[in-house]
Amino acid sequence: MKAGFVNIFGKPNAGKSTLLNALIGEKMAIVSPKVQTTRHRIKAFLNKPGEYQIIFSDTPGIIDPKYKLHQKMMDSVKGALEDADLALLMVDANDNFEECDAIFAALKLKVPALLILNKIDIAGNGKIAEAEAFFANKSYCKQLVKIGALQKLHLNKLLAVIVSMLPEGLPFYNEDDLSDLPTRFFVSEMIREKIYELFADEIPYHSAVLVNEYKDKGNIIKIQADIIVHRETQKAIIIGEKGTMIRQIGIQARKDIEAFVQKKIFLELFVKVRPKWRDNDLQLKEYGYQ
Ligand code: GDP
Ligand code: MG
Repeated sequence: MKAGFVNIFGKPNAGKSTLLNALIGEKMAIVSPKVQTTRHRIKAFLNKPGEYQIIFSDTPGIIDPKYKLHQKMMDSVKGALEDADLALLMVDANDNFEECDAIFAALKLKVPALLILNKIDIAGNGKIAEAEAFFANKSYCKQLVKIGALQKLHLNKLLAVIVSMLPEGLPFYNEDDLSDLPTRFFVSEMIREKIYELFADEIPYHSAVLVNEYKDKGNIIKIQADIIVHRETQKAIIIGEKGTMIRQIGIQARKDIEAFVQKKIFLELFVKVRPKWRDNDLQLKEYGYQ
């Protein structure tokens, strides 16, 4: 049997979270067109009993840290560098390849890597051939695989290549589990995703979500969560006129959470103001950014 850790790296928006979800077949990582949606390292398991267990890690996109929150995000990237058996280096086919190369070279990878060229469905003229020529002789690029994560293009081929590069071994985790993270974590992420979808400008980047209560009452799960923002003005925007916006967040998040936990839920949301939480160690810890 094959078993190992496969970590996905790349610039923000390359499609790392989309690939993870497509491979696992469940919504594990939240996705949005905005950069820096992913703040945590998310591990998700792909099991084929008797054949393989792949432990995928999605990581936040690689950026220069501007806040303590960013530093914690980059720490999680560094952690993912150390325990991988295989690295997936993801490039958006329309991106600037020199910039991607600079980032991958700076990772100083010590493990084998696969270059993944994503978004081939919308790749501009000649970009795919250009990428193949550009990355062919890079030392970190053992092989290049072209995919379209969103439309699930060539994912079976990618999976076969990944499995062929994994070490022999027994499963590390229970083969019934999908992740090492608790359901609460996925609940808070699904609420956070709706904030990315519904609000513009700085609001998503100034928000965090904290699940205070998660009680399984048999036929229904009761969840209470706080949305944390920096300022009173942001709180007013999140709530919206007569509560219209927060109701929207609730309605949309509830759909996703119910699909994920396979049960009816009752979701109660409050908005709290915590100035400068992104630079406060205690608050970062409380909101799950260790
Ligand atoms: P991440 O920051 O690397 O995790 O990127 P996301 O997975 O959040 O994806 C960023 C954006 O790219 C989202 O709007 C995705 O829907 C989009 N995207 C991801 N993969 C593809 C793809 O194969 N084709 C196209 N056209 N869009 C994609
Ligand atoms: Mg992501």
